[in-house]
Amino acid sequence: MAEKIIKSDDEWRRMLTQEQYEVARRKGTERAFTGKYWDLHETGVYLCVCCGNELFNSDTKYDSGCGWPSFYAPQAEERVETAVDRSYGMMRTEVMCSRCGAHLGHVFEDGPRPTGLRYCMNSASLNFVKKD
Ligand code: FE
Repeated sequence: MAEKIIKSDDEWRRMLTQEQYEVARRKGTERAFTGKYWDLHETGVYLCVCCGNELFNSDTKYDSGCGWPSFYAPQAEERVETAVDRSYGMMRTEVMCSRCGAHLGHVFEDGPRPTGLRYCMNSASLNFVKKD
């Protein structure tokens, strides 16, 4: 199991933009169709904005129409962790970075094959690195 990264709130705040901090460390959500990656179609990998953990590959990204970057699978199962989220009167499954606990978004069971899953992520929690 990879080493966990633990930092204080102040440390995270210093190294992230305000929006990144609000989403990744305070479980915020960027507004739909406003993030920098929902409509990105380039080939590459999506890293955790907090710790650099490689979370998603562009080859599992698809157009879900929901306004957030959507993937049908993480790069590897152990790169993410999930938890039940009962906030806002809903029952959702939260997705977090397994290495630093960053809030990434939620996973829903309305995705495409082969998994049937939609990892609905916040651009603010991700850092895209282009690969040719
Ligand atoms: Fe992380």
